[in-house]
Amino acid sequence: MPNILFAEMRQETASFNPFPTDYSMFRQMHGLQIIEKYQGTKTEISGFMDVMAEKEGIQLIPTMSAASVSGGAIPTEDLQRLINEIVTSMAAVASENKIDAVYMCLHGAMAGETEGDPEGLLLDRVRGVVGDVPLVASIDLHAILTDRMLELIDVVVPFHTYPHMDQYETGQRAANCLLKLMDGHVKPETVTVKLPLLVRGDELITATGKYGEAIRMCQEIEASETGLSAGVNIGNAFTDVPELRTNVLIVRDGDRTQAEEDARRIARFMWEHRELFKAELISVEASIDVARQTNGLTVFSDAADATASGASGDSNEILKALLKSDFERKCLVPIVDQPAVEKAIACGEGGRVKLTLGGTLDPGRFTPLELEVDVLRTYDGHFAYENGLPGFGGQVVILRHQNIDILVVERSLFFVGQKVFASHGCEPADYAIVVVKSPNGFRPYYEAIASQICAVDVIGSTSANLNSLPFKNVARPIFPLDEVNLEI
Ligand SMILES: [Zn+2]
Repeated sequence: MPNILFAEMRQETASFNPFPTDYSMFRQMHGLQIIEKYQGTKTEISGFMDVMAEKEGIQLIPTMSAASVSGGAIPTEDLQRLINEIVTSMAAVASENKIDAVYMCLHGAMAGETEGDPEGLLLDRVRGVVGDVPLVASIDLHAILTDRMLELIDVVVPFHTYPHMDQYETGQRAANCLLKLMDGHVKPETVTVKLPLLVRGDELITATGKYGEAIRMCQEIEASETGLSAGVNIGNAFTDVPELRTNVLIVRDGDRTQAEEDARRIARFMWEHRELFKAELISVEASIDVARQTNGLTVFSDAADATASGASGDSNEILKALLKSDFERKCLVPIVDQPAVEKAIACGEGGRVKLTLGGTLDPGRFTPLELEVDVLRTYDGHFAYENGLPGFGGQVVILRHQNIDILVVERSLFFVGQKVFASHGCEPADYAIVVVKSPNGFRPYYEAIASQICAVDVIGSTSANLNSLPFKNVARPIFPLDEVNLEI
């Protein structure tokens, strides 16, 4: 009976967020608990397990899963400990069982404070344990595809949708690739074209944008006779590491020449349209004007403080602008602020308290805002996201100042969907303005209830205005930070 070992390590790093993601921020699962918790979720691991369940005689052996909300770089010791524990859990199984194949579920855009390629480091150690067995990895399309990762993975399987809706299908694709490799009939030929290109903006939305056209070319390749995997990894533009760039990835069975031709064709397409891959932002004042002229809900996308991209989540820029304006209808604003939560809890539900909001994690960018608020409700912070996975914001409070409700959490969360609000008693549809901390991932959750969407131009460590960020490590020149002449 073939044994397939699998493990997960995911976090997305924003290098310009000064608040580190330490070991304690990784939610961990071990052994069979991983199967129990992931069964029935809309995740890569669930898709992978469902395909494997259809095959007779395959034994899945889960070892360790570690995942954190996106955030700052991981301190060296914390990263070493995490990788050591994952590798040790895999080595323990490998010492007692023959391992026939490995599936690694990765995000791909992690960065340590001193390590630019944590996934490559993990894979190197995993290879040391399992040797030369078939190894497939699924990755986010924001992954930074490093040379080391490409060397160590037999077939890389990236997401195809942005906003990400195909995690489950990506797990299925990874499982099917691994089964083909285990049969021994395929010889994967991986080709990448490296593009010095950082991308933002609405044209990345795969259902409607130019990037979607490139992805559909990839899907045609995957559907062809020798196609194994194809994608365009755009990197997380805020993970400032040397290999940050856009990569076109093609994996074909045995046909390197065709894979090279495909990769060049799609790379040319991306490069020709590079001017389109810039975000169009509007000022916060103009955004409030849009909301004023809108009857229903206007969603404000605070991409600059997107916890989903790795920002700190303690920006109060939009909150300040709302207070300054004469906007009177109901607004909902999330913020990460542990001291404010503690103060509100000490005051108690129904009380009124003076506290400061914002600027506790990224004080170089945001200055605290003093405010008198009503403490509406308090929560223990446990809830479930739309994909079925648990979220935990530490203690959570809902505060009110005039027409503004403020969801304050102790620990960073994905402020992307509706459930992060609704689970804490705030139904987004009841508000005139809802602030999400997400550049585009929120769209599938809000399109049905939003009358308008504004990409708000405020400061932050994940600003879509890339020229505003202090890049140090990314290889230059790179578009749009620099002018680049390129022949593909
Ligand atoms: Zn992503």
